[in-house]
Amino acid sequence: MAEAASLEMPSPERITELKESLEEIRERVNVASLPENSPTLVAVSKYKPASDILACYRNGQLDFGENYVQELEEKARVLPADIRWHFIGTLQSNKAKTLASIPNLFSIQTLGSIKAATALNKALPGDRASPLRILIQVNTSGEDSKSGLSPLASDSNLSESDLVLLAKHVISECPRLHLEGLMTIGALELSLTASETEKNADFERLKETRDTLASYLKGAYPDGDRRWGDASGRLVLSMGMSSDFEAALKAGSDIVRVGTGIFGQRAKKTS
Ligand SMILES: *Cc1c(COP(=O)(O)O)cnc(C)c1O
Repeated sequence: MAEAASLEMPSPERITELKESLEEIRERVNVASLPENSPTLVAVSKYKPASDILACYRNGQLDFGENYVQELEEKARVLPADIRWHFIGTLQSNKAKTLASIPNLFSIQTLGSIKAATALNKALPGDRASPLRILIQVNTSGEDSKSGLSPLASDSNLSESDLVLLAKHVISECPRLHLEGLMTIGALELSLTASETEKNADFERLKETRDTLASYLKGAYPDGDRRWGDASGRLVLSMGMSSDFEAALKAGSDIVRVGTGIFGQRAKKTS
């Protein structure tokens, strides 16, 4: 029997279309980035065929984001092994095993509970080349429809906040995970109404949360450098999607997640 996600070749028209949209988005990322940042563009390929991903890969795109564990697993099986997969969907502890079995899973951006962190840490193979990068999802807009932990303010009761407890759990108890930074989605209305000069309140909240968490961790682990953050020990920010990635980059985002802007509209999920 044929595999569900067999690898068909992209059509010449689709190759051209994707090359052009990818180049346009890359250019816009370059223009909007702060001089001191070299942000990562994650191409969000949920619902899109593996052939679309292959076409982008052949244009030098290595970072792809997926929201559904089974879809990610099927695509990872047929696509090149040097793709860096970012899981950006709802994370359930009972899917940790499947996620952990994907050798080129690069990051999980949607961690939200100690339970899921423990399950992932347990499921990851001991011989993984490096710990799995983890971003904790923060619900900066406070909407019920969005997942994530509450943001921090400098006057929060830090040692009892869920975000601090989860960060400490990953650092102290999960040697196969590496706390890389924070991720947020933010309210769509803000991105549609914010003018050029206005700041997006959700992106500002994620930055404040990151700065507050970073100074808390420095105090909690006086010899803790290199136990979190990127190569220079900085907690990174994943914020910005098709409709607001330029505003996010101007606010200092390190990772933008762009789907529609590269691949076009998604079909509604049917199953
Ligand atoms: C789908 C999705 C994206 C991409 O959204 P677009 O608006 O298509 O760019 C980014 N981040 C998350 C968490 C998503 O679920």
